[in-house]
Amino acid sequence: MDSRAFVENMFHEYYTKDFSLGEGFPSIEKREFGFASFNGWMLRHKGFKTADELELFLRDSVPYGAYFSCAYYEDPEADMSKKGWLGADLIFDVDADHIPTPCNKIHDEWVCGNCGFAGRGIEPEKCPSCSSEKIAVDSWPCEVCIKTAKVEIIKLVDFLINDFGFSKKEIRLFFSGHRGYHVYVQTRDVEPLDAIARKEITDYICGRGLSSSSFGLDGKTLTMRKESFKALADVGWRRRIIRGIKDALLNADERKLASFGFSSTDAKAILGNREKILMELEKSDKAGLIKGIGPERWEKMVNLGISLQSAKIDTVVTTDVHRLIRLDNSLHGKTGFKKVEISMSAIDDFDPFTSAVAFSHGEATVSVSSAPAFRLGNEMFGPYKDQKVKLPTAAAMLLVCKGRAKVIE
Ligand SMILES: [Zn+2]
Ligand SMILES: [Zn+2]
Repeated sequence: MDSRAFVENMFHEYYTKDFSLGEGFPSIEKREFGFASFNGWMLRHKGFKTADELELFLRDSVPYGAYFSCAYYEDPEADMSKKGWLGADLIFDVDADHIPTPCNKIHDEWVCGNCGFAGRGIEPEKCPSCSSEKIAVDSWPCEVCIKTAKVEIIKLVDFLINDFGFSKKEIRLFFSGHRGYHVYVQTRDVEPLDAIARKEITDYICGRGLSSSSFGLDGKTLTMRKESFKALADVGWRRRIIRGIKDALLNADERKLASFGFSSTDAKAILGNREKILMELEKSDKAGLIKGIGPERWEKMVNLGISLQSAKIDTVVTTDVHRLIRLDNSLHGKTGFKKVEISMSAIDDFDPFTSAVAFSHGEATVSVSSAPAFRLGNEMFGPYKDQKVKLPTAAAMLLVCKGRAKVIE
């Protein structure tokens, strides 16, 4: 069987038998929908009156990818300028593609579409050889990378609840079906926010433009004002900075501090005074001075706290008030996984390699060019290199969708 027919047949089966939009999809009739086909074309500006209508369309068209607008429109099918923008959900995207991990050099490859220059790890913005921006990426939905992205989501949710005051009911979490997570904030309060207001929110969450001195937290002001950390430790970024410094120092050694950008002299001074620094962060009366930890070293620690506590979101997604995002419960064409909702209380234990698996029966024989070891449910597969294997449908689907295998039968 031809590989594409295999994927399309299985997608068709999914959209016929298993797909449902799910509860809690607000105002379907005000959303714009977009679809990517297996042939490479993109259909935008579609509208549906009901979930049934949308489900029927998915069954008939079997898209490679299905998307909907975070925005609500008076007339979703009109041209962009005539749609009548009514507001938009506040959405966030955290993708492992943008977070450096120890393993992306092992499993991710990129190649310049212009000159063929290739490399491993996170792709550069421009080709280092010819400066072309046409970089094709072949990333793997790796367990370690996806876990790293989940840590960022947990930080993000903490911001949304504790700093912005959204309730748990207003926040919805999803695994994207590939290498990341989506978060929707759905409440009247966020709908009218324009791009600039949304940018303010992402700046806050990324700790961008945050100056340690504005919190009285850099060494200089600390020395002058003799303010305590504890008094500053209760809310917002001040609390986060202190938590960040503590987390970094508790298990640090010189190598770890070097990885955070500290010089060897700085690292030695900080480690030599670790207990005193940690005590200082806990103190509720005026901060004392620590010999060997001057204003500059305090400032460096504060900046480290900021970088560790900020959430690594893709800010472009949040600030785009017309953004199309992958449809809830639809299939991801790069993996055959489905985009699934995660209940807030289950985020710590959420396992995409169980919950997002869309195909639970059947087998296929594939010829694999190369694939790292991976897990689906409780079963381990690979690594494979130029070999023929008989696999459960979901595993074969992943390899075929990633372009790592061809279907033989
Ligand atoms: Zn190039
Ligand atoms: Zn990885």
